[in-house]
Amino acid sequence: MEFGFGDEDETFRSEARAWLAEHIRAHPGIAGRGGPGSEHEAAGERRAWEKELGSGGWIGLGWREGGYGNRVATLTQQVVWAEEYARVRAPGRYGHIGENLLAPTLLAHGTREQRQRYLPPIARGEELWCQGYSEPGAGSDLASLRTSAARDGDGRWRVSGQKVWTSLAHQADWCFVLARTEPGSRRHHGLSFLLVPMDQPGHIDVRPIQQLTGTSEFNEVFFDGAVAADVVGGEGNGWRVAMGLLGFERGVSTLAQQVGFQEELNTVVRDAVASGAVRDPVLADRLVRLWAELRTMRWNALRTLGGAEDAGAPSVAKLLWGGWHQRLGELALRVRGAAAAAGPHDWAPGAPYQLDEQQRLFLFSRADTIYGGSDEIQRTIIAERVLGLPREAL
Ligand SMILES: Cc1cc2nc3c(=O)[nH]c(=O)nc-3n(C[C@H](O)[C@H](O)[C@H](O)COP(=O)(O)OP(=O)(O)OC[C@H]3O[C@@H](n4cnc5c(N)ncnc54)[C@H](O)[C@@H]3O)c2cc1C
Repeated sequence: MEFGFGDEDETFRSEARAWLAEHIRAHPGIAGRGGPGSEHEAAGERRAWEKELGSGGWIGLGWREGGYGNRVATLTQQVVWAEEYARVRAPGRYGHIGENLLAPTLLAHGTREQRQRYLPPIARGEELWCQGYSEPGAGSDLASLRTSAARDGDGRWRVSGQKVWTSLAHQADWCFVLARTEPGSRRHHGLSFLLVPMDQPGHIDVRPIQQLTGTSEFNEVFFDGAVAADVVGGEGNGWRVAMGLLGFERGVSTLAQQVGFQEELNTVVRDAVASGAVRDPVLADRLVRLWAELRTMRWNALRTLGGAEDAGAPSVAKLLWGGWHQRLGELALRVRGAAAAAGPHDWAPGAPYQLDEQQRLFLFSRADTIYGGSDEIQRTIIAERVLGLPREAL
């Protein structure tokens, strides 16, 4: 597949660059905030930033159709946007679950009314979403989930049960919840994909979970008769809808995500050069290896985005980037040497610990091979669906 930037892409780049420069200037202090392990930073400013992105029409560039307040951009323009976004160190996105996971799912499985109801507020940066899949007894084995929903006297679905590891539930206005709607059903049968408003005091309780970074990016969420506003894909079809969404989660970010990875790698290389650590041949070897692996990921992304039919593509992409980002986190600290294990010089025993950007990257990246489906699960998918190996006993 040919991949290069044409005149139209460069015009698009000028527009994106000018817009970002002007708007980042209007939000001093927001640049570089909210990256991996720093999701707590500048919460109010970053919510406002989502609306600003929306007002510029920059949310939903990758949706397969426009008309929701988004502009539709080509693949190369999406890469241009990601490059420019990373170049000005614009903040980590609060809206990515709605924009990159729910929206493509609604475009694939939602009704016209649902698309018209839910996509415009996502494109305006007004409504944030979270993902209610995992439960205490259902992570890798999602089909064993127990959260259920039943119709009340008014015909509305009411959800009860517990979700866990729900990223950004404390910020979200909505949650898409996978729940059992057919009593007595088993495994992936009888599930529905429900859209649930989060503002239901007494029916939804969000409890933050503290992570290794000392911050709380994810939560436990308890539902007690919470009302669902919609079912996507029809009652009982939740598994098909939910799996389609996971494909977006594992594969979709690809090229745009790699732009961010390249920036992170550049920072580690700069650190290594500045400190002289790069003279260590083992470290130099690892830096080059990461650089080369990033190129491999790029070609893999281009291959699959070029339309090649490949059932294993999302799993291969997830395996590649999860492990790569984790090794980057490890290397970021190795480059620092022993100092990487220390806190800031003014830290006093008993005070909450403060981590710098590289320490947070390292700690957060431990999760990269877990969320969105662990490495072991990706390998099982490839084994069974691509290589045709015998199915795992359940
Ligand atoms: C940072 C972060 C954010 C997250 N955000 C969300 C979110 O927003 N919404 C949401 O719903 N979930 C979220 N998750 C949850 C995530 O999807 C689960 O952690 C993941 O699916 C694994 O499930 P589990 O934690 O229950 O581990 P388990 O399923 O209990 O697995 C434990 C270990 O056993 C291995 N294992 C399990 N089954 C098999 C098998 N059959 N074969 C081989 N090995 C196996 C796993 O690979 C893993 O190493 C998040 C997780 C993290 C870390």
